[in-house]
Amino acid sequence: MTVSTLLKNKEQNLFTITQSHNLQDVCKILAEKRIGVLLVCDKNGIIEGIISERDIVKALGNSGNSVMAETVGQHMTANPVTCSPIETINQIMAKMTTGRFRHIPVVKDNKLIAVISIGDIVKARMEAMEAEARAMQEYIGG
Ligand code: AMP
Repeated sequence: MTVSTLLKNKEQNLFTITQSHNLQDVCKILAEKRIGVLLVCDKNGIIEGIISERDIVKALGNSGNSVMAETVGQHMTANPVTCSPIETINQIMAKMTTGRFRHIPVVKDNKLIAVISIGDIVKARMEAMEAEARAMQEYIGG
């Protein structure tokens, strides 16, 4: 299965923020939208970084509540690993495992089109396995 196939069955919600916002802004959006990361983009929509709930926890653990007023630019991961729609789910799983992250932006023709989470991958794999099991049962049952 490819990223493109996975995206056909996924609600297309893309949430971004700029480097000059602060961590309080990030927390508000993550909580409201019930998501784990925001893509950090410039005014032309070009990806500059990614900021995840893990980055917030790390900053809070290291420096306490005062970090909430600090900027996204100070705490994001710059130049995140991305993928293209034609990559396979197995390739994405390998990238996530190697990079130890649970999110990956999807880029097509230099444009950000979606974000895939590890939850999306698990869901797609489960559906594929269930479809295979159904096909096998039908084959055996004649
Ligand atoms: P996550 O597991 O996705 O919540 O992120 C764990 C850490 O990896 C955080 O520091 C993120 O900023 C960073 N991160 C998340 N996604 C990516 C990515 N696609 N490429 C590089 N770093 C990432």
